[in-house]
Amino acid sequence: MTITSAGPEISALLVHNAQLIGGEWVPAASGETIDVINPATGEVLAAVPRGGKADVDAAVEAAQRAFPAWRDTSATARGALVYRWAQLIDEHANELDEIEKREVGRPYWGPPPMSRILTFIAGQADKVQGVSLPTFTPDVLGFTLREPYGVVGSIIPWNAPGPMFANDVGAAVAAGNTIVIKPAEDAPLTPLALAKLAVEAGFPPGVINVVTGYGHEAGAAIPAHPGIKRMSFTGSPETGELVMAACARNLTPLHLELGGKSPQVVFADADLEAAVPAMVGGITLNTGQICAAGSRLVVTRDRHDEIVDRVAAAMQKVTVGPWFEPVQMGPLINAKQHQRVLNYVRIGQEQGAELITGGGVPAGEQFRSGFFVEPTLFDQVDPGSRIAQEEIFGPVLSVITVEDEEEAIAVANGTGYGLVASVWTRDVGRAVRMARALQAGQVAINAALGAGVIGGPFGGYKRSGFGRTMGADAVLNFTQVKTVSMRGTEAGGLR
Ligand code: NAD
Repeated sequence: MTITSAGPEISALLVHNAQLIGGEWVPAASGETIDVINPATGEVLAAVPRGGKADVDAAVEAAQRAFPAWRDTSATARGALVYRWAQLIDEHANELDEIEKREVGRPYWGPPPMSRILTFIAGQADKVQGVSLPTFTPDVLGFTLREPYGVVGSIIPWNAPGPMFANDVGAAVAAGNTIVIKPAEDAPLTPLALAKLAVEAGFPPGVINVVTGYGHEAGAAIPAHPGIKRMSFTGSPETGELVMAACARNLTPLHLELGGKSPQVVFADADLEAAVPAMVGGITLNTGQICAAGSRLVVTRDRHDEIVDRVAAAMQKVTVGPWFEPVQMGPLINAKQHQRVLNYVRIGQEQGAELITGGGVPAGEQFRSGFFVEPTLFDQVDPGSRIAQEEIFGPVLSVITVEDEEEAIAVANGTGYGLVASVWTRDVGRAVRMARALQAGQVAINAALGAGVIGGPFGGYKRSGFGRTMGADAVLNFTQVKTVSMRGTEAGGLR
């Protein structure tokens, strides 16, 4: 196995050709492997098992065996284990960051958020409560119990593998479920490293099972398995439809976190000093490969020219390069995604948008081996055109000009998606109206998305999905409700 030499030592947390099933680190039943590539250099980072149906079957069986004891473990003990896991993640924050940087190709973002996510979740484990219910007569007690589903399934994407893994695994096991999770084939190394730390934290065998592999093999086998009692899927709407169809066959409840085409709406009274860097960051963070990327810039005509000039200038200053350089933007994840983004640039031009900056591969020898693209700005974009409607998942920002607030709302809401939205204005009345009018799971006013908020619920409206991660219900979402009615007799027995 190869691992690139730049950066601190990370090999202690790298898992070699093994997935976690029933507490054992095992290869795929088929013995086959998948290479994980560094998208900045094309180097092979490691090989992981090419899991399939047989591996998912084994993982579900292990999770079923582990479930009764885990369900009956006190909520305090479950929360303490999640918290211990968070502490270990903190202790290994640098190594985890190095692994995620290499497999996703991103530069340094700051401390990874996994321990923060798990600390938030750990605190909810012993606060899963039912309610007492009113009764018709005093000899009856009524109450609800919140119970785990059993074995839950999860499939996550490659763009933020660490946080996605922490969100689903943490909340599922805190609620008393056991889990079978499949990371994306492009970025399974951070999830495997996190699983290694979960084992070290002391989670019993079979509580957390990680099957690696391709989507159409290991991925498809999870929602199709009748032993899966609740499903979470984070990824593209197209795959979400397949997962939902598979869940429908078993009547498995599911949670979908899908894509976005998020608007950043800027009014003439906006503080551009604050807005421009946030808007550029909103489309270049992770090379635009963020479900919440602000990929449409909706501006009113009265300040359009100044805003476009300033955003273009800021985009041209974004530094691009491999993860080990102090740059702001890395490459795209793979050749397919590279081609997809460049195709959308062509489609934008064909459909009449004006290319203001970027649109190609940056010049220079160092950009030849990775999947790099320039931060790209299109102006004069028709709100109905493909680059304004479809999720590109790259650093491509489309400017759409509107006349007034009413049109801004119509354009902002005028796609199938509804994940997040941001608004820049100094007018408090308008801010309140926009917060109510925008169809999105999160709205940020004069702030980068989610800035300063701890544990805000995250999820979509419309084709961006349904269900929420984080929030006060993060753990509750992994439980089902049972109503208990209990009638006693005066003699003390049961009737
Ligand atoms: P994807 O749908 O191609 O893959 C996501 C996961 O699904 C991967 O693990 C993949 O192996 C698996 N998969 C693929 N085909 C499958 C199948 N037939 N059955 C079961 N599983 C299958 O998405 P991607 O390209 O990895 O990620 C990008 C997408 O994810 C974008 O649309 C992005 O917006 C979305 N996303 C959403 C959120 C959110 O929280 N809403 C977060 C991150 C990414």
